[in-house]
Amino acid sequence: MSLEHEANNWLRHRFGRNVKFDEPMSKHTYFRIGGPVDAFVVPQSQKDLIDLIIWAGQMQQPYIVIGDGTNLLVRDAGIRGLVIMLTKCLNKISRLNRGDDTTIISAMAGARLQALCKFAIESGLEGMNFAIGIPGTVGGGIVMNAGSAAGSVEGVLDSIEVLLSGGERLTLERSQLVFKYRNLSLKKVAPNGDLEKTIVLEGHFQLRPSDARYLKKEAREMLNKRRTAQPSNYASAGCFFKNPASGKTAGELIELAGLKGKRVGGAEVSAKHANFIINTDNASAADVTALMEIVQETVSQTFNIELTPEVKIVGTQA
Ligand SMILES: Cc1cc2nc3c(=O)[nH]c(=O)nc-3n(C[C@H](O)[C@H](O)[C@H](O)COP(=O)(O)OP(=O)(O)OC[C@H]3O[C@@H](n4cnc5c(N)ncnc54)[C@H](O)[C@@H]3O)c2cc1C
Repeated sequence: MSLEHEANNWLRHRFGRNVKFDEPMSKHTYFRIGGPVDAFVVPQSQKDLIDLIIWAGQMQQPYIVIGDGTNLLVRDAGIRGLVIMLTKCLNKISRLNRGDDTTIISAMAGARLQALCKFAIESGLEGMNFAIGIPGTVGGGIVMNAGSAAGSVEGVLDSIEVLLSGGERLTLERSQLVFKYRNLSLKKVAPNGDLEKTIVLEGHFQLRPSDARYLKKEAREMLNKRRTAQPSNYASAGCFFKNPASGKTAGELIELAGLKGKRVGGAEVSAKHANFIINTDNASAADVTALMEIVQETVSQTFNIELTPEVKIVGTQA
């Protein structure tokens, strides 16, 4: 089912070539998987974005905001409503002067996390290197509390600006944010705890002065380590499952359960890193979820540990 004629017309008139109808989400996810969304909208300015959110509220159109789709599995039946991509309207990174000793970098949600890391290094500011090599946007990184063994967004985020579903802008200080493992909860502010409707507009990151040459060297080493450990030649959404709170990592458990190389259709448990499900040959979302369930059941039966996906699975159930 696609959008009503009237909704289609409004979107076409307001967004021109920046809206696409029945757009395959496989074009917008790192997994290269996903059925069509009714309307894929790329606002070119904050005003565009606010107008769209207010209109969607009035028309009761569901929407999902995405960054680079690096952590998304979109189901084969696609997404009803709108997908809004922020990379064209919110991509500035700048240094803020607050008039005290703290050094804050402001990064808009649609800017790349890697651009933020580079900006920090070139400014001789320490704190962002944990994110070296993590693909995606600043907004996605904040919402996912992205991180590595070296740290996570939680360690450096000072405050965020959000857009509520009614179009109001709000600043949330660090004390108002509830960080969890690979998740930021906005339950305190989002109506009905519905984060999908609350849009992160920008983040303010508190960093420390350091030596740019040292930071650059550290970043190079981290990137090399990542390239050696991860199956970067294949489409994926990064680590598929969250690591259990203690003990072995999800990857170690999957490997010990003998699942490396296990396949369903075009989806495969990577032989290089067992917590990566890779798309080796036009996998469908159904292939990936079937493989996910096999992994969950096998690990549960072998170790009595329940693995939960870190990847966000969205879209209509077929
Ligand atoms: C090869 C590879 C390696 C990876 N390695 C790591 C790693 O080491 N550590 C790690 O933590 N992750 C890793 N990831 C996962 C992913 O890169 C991160 O989760 C990233 O931060 C997601 O950013 P994104 O812009 O792509 O978000 P998306 O995938 O587009 O979205 C992720 C979620 O955030 C929501 N969202 C996005 N932007 C906004 C916004 N502005 N406001 C509100 N909601 C929003 C979306 O609706 C969705 O629910 C990896 C992924 C890949 C493909």
